[in-house]
Amino acid sequence: MFRRSIAVIGAGASGLVAARELRREGHDVVVFERGGTVGGTWVYTPAIESDLLGLDPNRKVIHSSLYNSLRTNLPRECMGFFDYPFVPVNEINDHDPRRFPGHGEVLRYLESFSRDNDLYLLIRFGTEVVSVEMEKERGWAVRSLKIGAGRDRVKNEVYDGVVVCSGHYTEPRVADIPGIEIWPGKQMHSHNYRIPQPFLGQVCIVSNWDCMLARHSGFLHLFIHFVIVVIGSSASAADISREIAGFAREVHGASRSSCPGAPMKQPGYDNLWLHSMLFSGDVSLVRFGWDAPTAVGLLTVPKDALIEKGKNTLAQSGAMDDKQKKRKGPPETRRSEKHVTGIPKTKFRDVLAWAGSLVATAFRIATMLIFLSQVVPFPLCELQSKWVAGVLSGRIALPTPEKMLEDVDALYSEMEQARWPHIGHFEYDDWLASQCGHPLVEEWRKQMYKAASKNKVVRPDNYRDEWDDDDLVSAAHEDFKKILT
Ligand code: FAD
Repeated sequence: MFRRSIAVIGAGASGLVAARELRREGHDVVVFERGGTVGGTWVYTPAIESDLLGLDPNRKVIHSSLYNSLRTNLPRECMGFFDYPFVPVNEINDHDPRRFPGHGEVLRYLESFSRDNDLYLLIRFGTEVVSVEMEKERGWAVRSLKIGAGRDRVKNEVYDGVVVCSGHYTEPRVADIPGIEIWPGKQMHSHNYRIPQPFLGQVCIVSNWDCMLARHSGFLHLFIHFVIVVIGSSASAADISREIAGFAREVHGASRSSCPGAPMKQPGYDNLWLHSMLFSGDVSLVRFGWDAPTAVGLLTVPKDALIEKGKNTLAQSGAMDDKQKKRKGPPETRRSEKHVTGIPKTKFRDVLAWAGSLVATAFRIATMLIFLSQVVPFPLCELQSKWVAGVLSGRIALPTPEKMLEDVDALYSEMEQARWPHIGHFEYDDWLASQCGHPLVEEWRKQMYKAASKNKVVRPDNYRDEWDDDDLVSAAHEDFKKILT
């Protein structure tokens, strides 16, 4: 068993659980967090960026992408860490006992997790890691910047390992729509969506919009039309389009997974439609799949965000990316990387193969999530953290680099054949669990995830308040009792 010095970058859910698992395994851990508190994404702010599409590299970056009304899209029993159940705690002020609570409850949960596991001691708040470089034989050179500090603000240190938990939603991924560059209307990315009244603080209520027009002529175009297109149809897009429908004249959702044909009016709304994929947006019309063009005033691009071009050098310029870019494969296959089961496992192996030595190995935990678009993030990060911690200590054995590359190749040919492989994130979780000697993912958690996912599609308006899986909730609470007593 080796004891190593490990730098963890980020104190969001992934960084916190990584720190706990690494310390449990006996490693020496330092967590770098550029913000002033734990929680990452779950630290809501009403602030938005100066460039609403997030393309300007000089904009002030806001980390969190939460909107004010956000409630979890997973039931809390399913969402929490394995041995730290996400149950309502009555003693906490403002607690939110709902099964799909608001974002504040998740932040409180992460704060309690940090407190109860003594993680605050490990965290250097207000400290940004600005570069990580591999140093031959010595380990990883980590350069950090104490935000707001004077002469001693830059620190150079060497660690045996680095676990990157910097999150992957902050850098928006903007849809590539032909003609959009000459679009005269407003565009924004849902990373900057907070409340349904567009442009926080400037528009009070939409019923007031006539007088707002006079005062904010810059937004004239927006308010004359007040027709909104939301691209995407996953959890955030479904929430946001429904919320905006309460204010806008028309909301048009555009989804790659919808069948081409007539737009579908969404049940319960007379101003909300779902269209097939948006394929062009020129001057003041947008064209969906086979539909007639629609006049719009605001184009909202939601954030199924994957980092594509980022300013975060850690997330963007690692050797893993370069290696990944060189890897051959048909475009279709490369695109499916984001969705295929097994890829994260393989990526880890790929990095290890590249690094050639465990002492000099960087891992990505949160960023791994980009390869699986639909996951239960907290337990997944917990298992990945256990695995990383075990690999670094030598308790978990790695295959040889040759075997790793074989595995990568087998996966790529599997993907080529399947074209669009199914998502099997619980299989991946169970693989990690078996490697770590951890029990497999509980059956109730798997079933609950399935039930919630189905309800989300069938009843997007009320899946958070009506359900029929009480038996699974009881099974979860039986398990929680064993942990909590
Ligand atoms: P983050 O929470 O993003 O944390 C990353 C941390 O790293 C931040 O604190 C940041 O300040 C820090 N950091 C970044 N770069 C540096 C640097 N260079 N130096 C120092 N510190 C740095 N998950 C669910 O389970 N349920 C849900 O209902 C759910 N809903 C979501 C809704 C939205 C709108 C979004 C955006 C995400 C949602 N998620 C949900 C997914 C959520 O992202 C994950 O649950 C999880 O919180 C990700 O944690 P993380 O630690 O990987 O990243």
